[in-house]
Amino acid sequence: MLAFENLGIRFGGNQAVQNVTGSITPGIITAIIGPNGAGKSTFFNMLSGFYQPTSGRVTFKGQDITGLPTHQVVALGVARTFQTTTIYKELSVLDNAVLGHRVRTRSGLWDALLLTGRERRERRASQEAAYTALRRVGLEAQAHLPAGSLTQEAQKRVSIAIALATGPQVLLLDEPAAGINPEETVNLTRTIRELASGGLTVVLIEHKMSMIMTLADHIMVLHHGEKIAEGTPAQVSRDPKVVEAYLGGHAAPHVQQEFRKDLAEEAAQLEGGHA
Ligand code: ADP
Ligand code: MG
Repeated sequence: MLAFENLGIRFGGNQAVQNVTGSITPGIITAIIGPNGAGKSTFFNMLSGFYQPTSGRVTFKGQDITGLPTHQVVALGVARTFQTTTIYKELSVLDNAVLGHRVRTRSGLWDALLLTGRERRERRASQEAAYTALRRVGLEAQAHLPAGSLTQEAQKRVSIAIALATGPQVLLLDEPAAGINPEETVNLTRTIRELASGGLTVVLIEHKMSMIMTLADHIMVLHHGEKIAEGTPAQVSRDPKVVEAYLGGHAAPHVQQEFRKDLAEEAAQLEGGHA
């Protein structure tokens, strides 16, 4: 479906991602993990048209989409969220989702100014798509509140709704659970699981191991911009290269600490029966 071949990007002297080859299996949840600075977000940026790769290519359903502008990639069916929540805080939750859908519609400035038939039809379609997206993330009741008045977790759901409103087949989520508490993380995990059960292909970057282990069907590990392992959660967590990447001498102390903390959280959750 979504495939990449020898994908790489260089920023000046820094080869941020290199030689990443693989593909995303439709209908499952794929997780991309790796220490901070491994190149995960940069990899997403290349899949979604935000960065132009300096080598390799990206294809979607057989079509070469390497270097296409973001709005074209979105229109083809690949949507993403950002690591830092990007929503319009002063707009209503509904209008945020409407903006997502408008990426797909065709009305121009004239249509909008003159409120042509086409503009009216498209507004209606956008509202319907927006409501559907809000329902999928459990935000229908908050549709008319300013997005900025919601909790951090609900704002993350708004950004997912914006992406869903574009009607994607593949949804790329960059650290959806960053900065939210464990209980909210469990709820968000459930929502993502439901989206995948509904047939959406989900790719997520995350470093909360508890979330990865309960959610991912398949894991790809990036380290220093390269793919060092791939497989089921059980396979990957036993892989010596992965353990070395997180706990080895090269990882910064705070990364090691984070990984240990995540593993401890995971163990506690498993004991508590939440996982
Ligand atoms: P991760 O998401 O895995 O924590 P990133 O993809 O954000 O890591 O970063 C990987 C590397 O790419 C880092 O060394 C970062 O400094 C570099 N990088 C990412 N975007 C840019 C950019 N726009 N300009 C220069 N360097 C960048
Ligand atoms: Mg990142």
